[in-house]
Amino acid sequence: MTADKGTSRYDPTFARELSKMENGEYVSQCMQCGLCVVTCPARHLMDLQPRKYFKAIQAGDKDKVLKANTPWLCTSCNLCTVRCPRGIPIIDFMHGMKKYLADTKGAKVTPGALFSKTFFDNMISRGRLWEAFLTGMFYLKAGPKAMRDAMKMTDVAIPMVMKRRLPPLPGKAVKGKKDLKKIYKKASALAKEGH
Ligand code: SF4
Ligand code: SF4
Repeated sequence: MTADKGTSRYDPTFARELSKMENGEYVSQCMQCGLCVVTCPARHLMDLQPRKYFKAIQAGDKDKVLKANTPWLCTSCNLCTVRCPRGIPIIDFMHGMKKYLADTKGAKVTPGALFSKTFFDNMISRGRLWEAFLTGMFYLKAGPKAMRDAMKMTDVAIPMVMKRRLPPLPGKAVKGKKDLKKIYKKASALAKEGH
């Protein structure tokens, strides 16, 4: 008997795996009405808009979900969550997906994922952001094409530096920087244990 090539990319265990995540049990309740999409301010930038994202998970299209930038572009505005007729906590699910993707081999490191990690590393190192360094590091890590794109934005960047919106030097680190790192370490350990 030949395998059904049309369905071979679908993994029936994937939806079950995600349903065990915090708030993952809600995915199966999505009825594909699309209200979340019409309210989402980031929909035009997402590989899969929230409705299609849920559809791909329900269908077990793991590859598509692991490659999509959807959770990384969610701005946490909460509009979809208050509109969803099924009461799905979409914003919380997106937060959980970020963690899932960060921990999962084979998940695509999208620019959103890279920015998120760079942002967090920057913030945790001194307790406050150093925006100029964050911007530089992000474009450096994103590769030559991103660097070329960044060079095209000097007309915006230079006035921001001049007006101290992108200070070239770091501000003072917060008091208790070491304690902050300890809190982060502890929180990371708890998250790994599934708390
Ligand atoms: S609004 Fe809720 S039920 Fe409708 S498509 Fe979005 S997640 Fe699914
Ligand atoms: S919370 Fe995220 S997914 Fe929902 S509308 Fe806002 S940006 Fe879109």
